[in-house]
Amino acid sequence: MGDILLHVKDVHKSFGGLKALTNINLAIEQGTTHAIIGPNGAGKSTLLNTVIGRLVPDSGSVMFGGRSLTGLKPFEINQVGVVRVFQTPEIFPDLTLLQNVMIPALAKKEGSFRFNAFASLFKDTDVRDQALAMLEDLGLAEQKDREAAHLSRGDKRRLEMAMGLVQRPRLLLLDEPTAGMARHDTNRTIDLLQEVKKTGLTKVIIEHDMHVVFSLADRITVLAQGTIICEGTPDEVRGNPKVQEAYLGG
Ligand code: ADP
Ligand code: MG
Repeated sequence: MGDILLHVKDVHKSFGGLKALTNINLAIEQGTTHAIIGPNGAGKSTLLNTVIGRLVPDSGSVMFGGRSLTGLKPFEINQVGVVRVFQTPEIFPDLTLLQNVMIPALAKKEGSFRFNAFASLFKDTDVRDQALAMLEDLGLAEQKDREAAHLSRGDKRRLEMAMGLVQRPRLLLLDEPTAGMARHDTNRTIDLLQEVKKTGLTKVIIEHDMHVVFSLADRITVLAQGTIICEGTPDEVRGNPKVQEAYLGG
């Protein structure tokens, strides 16, 4: 086994009386694509939110590259290289595509935003070039001066991916990257993620489309009702009766 980049240890999280996560242990190996699957309400988003610092676990810890993320603020976790692409696209609809991609690149460069300098924000030529290159990689360069609001749903996803990748993450977390997509856009997203995979970027992907999961994942963890019911290679998970039961019975 290679180096472990992300290590979730004994994490518990409740909302009132509801145990959203119980005793979660997860080791994500450097350079792999690890899928987290499970029925609605299984705790997948809650798990991701504890990794990025939007939620603090009741107990347990999250280690990244040997350091503890537990108790760090979301922006601090982002600064160490953990980047999440959200379940609902979080883009700036009134800005152009180029500006959308420049914002996270600038935040990465500056460490924070100075909003009083908003007018000069987009004049940084290095960042502009980086953002343009990223739009080109994702096939969005021709639309760089369009307002993001006018993009198709699939292109919004790609824009969001560009906003994540431009930060040169060490770990990319994707929460249902193909949710609501037509098959054509789903296939484009699979192709894109396979390209990204070749760069050696470590990814955790939450996804309920099994076609996507089996096309991309090196390992799969199955969550149901806040606990891990199975973990293994795609073949191991596919043949596991507990998984079939969770999907059919859940
Ligand atoms: P998934 O992403 O697997 O669909 P979630 O992690 O969103 O599941 O939710 C797991 C459980 O925790 C669900 O029962 C959900 O209703 C509950 N839950 C999630 N977030 C909150 C919250 N902020 N407050 C209360 N309950 C929540
Ligand atoms: Mg979710």
